[in-house]
Amino acid sequence: MKYIGAHVSAAGGVENAPDNAAAIGATAFALFTKNQRQWQAKPLSDKNIEGFKARCEALGYGAGQILPHDSYLINLGHPEAAGLEKSRNAFLDEMQRCEQLGIDRLNFHPGSHLKKTSVTACLSTIAESVNLALEKTNGVTAVIENTAGQGTNLGYSFEQITEIIDQVEDKTRVGVCIDTCHGFAAGYDFSTADGYDKLWKEFEDFIGFQYLKGMHLNDAKKELASRVDRHAPLGEGFIGAKGFERIMNDSRIKNIPLILETPEPERWNAEIKMLKEMI
Ligand SMILES: [Zn+2]
Ligand SMILES: [Zn+2]
Repeated sequence: MKYIGAHVSAAGGVENAPDNAAAIGATAFALFTKNQRQWQAKPLSDKNIEGFKARCEALGYGAGQILPHDSYLINLGHPEAAGLEKSRNAFLDEMQRCEQLGIDRLNFHPGSHLKKTSVTACLSTIAESVNLALEKTNGVTAVIENTAGQGTNLGYSFEQITEIIDQVEDKTRVGVCIDTCHGFAAGYDFSTADGYDKLWKEFEDFIGFQYLKGMHLNDAKKELASRVDRHAPLGEGFIGAKGFERIMNDSRIKNIPLILETPEPERWNAEIKMLKEMI
């Protein structure tokens, strides 16, 4: 099954997200379980939790169709003790919120070295952060998102992602989310048939499809290997509609949330329809 949706609003409470997804014809969705630009959040209330579960059940959103995204503030590879502790606490809180909501995965950006530590050390710190969160939670997989490699963000190559996974103790609860725009910005060419085959071959060699727990479907505003993270509407960037058609017809990509983070929410309905029609 191809589950296709978008990162929808949870304004007014997480229990509103499933209906926002259904309204645009989505069979999958992403959300923030708290304000993504603040460290602190009120705990989820029973009303939030019961409401979310009830709406997901009523609308048919189950495991494999929901991919929450963590806060942008969190840096699990933070080179300084205070920043790292703050990030680890916030990440654990987000993992626990997923647990409470019955969601089986949480998507996160790996982390940044901020030019204060080595790449290798930063990747190990990220893995250790994941280990600490997994120890204290049950049933939620930590899903590493590939990045565009902007600034000092790590996780832009499949090698780096593998280095993190290798150091995670519970391999059953670590996964990967591939963002097409980030991948393209990092040099993985989704725009041509050859590039597409080559990049997934590399993915298989380094990581493996068993770890693929979600994808972000975004076209790219900047050219290949630009290292710049700018999303474009599908078919209007350097990847082009053909790139997404390949994904829609790739039998290796199945039963995971395929999420739009394209810039114009009013077009998500049409973009989801377009993707469904490509199959
Ligand atoms: Zn993304
Ligand atoms: Zn992005």
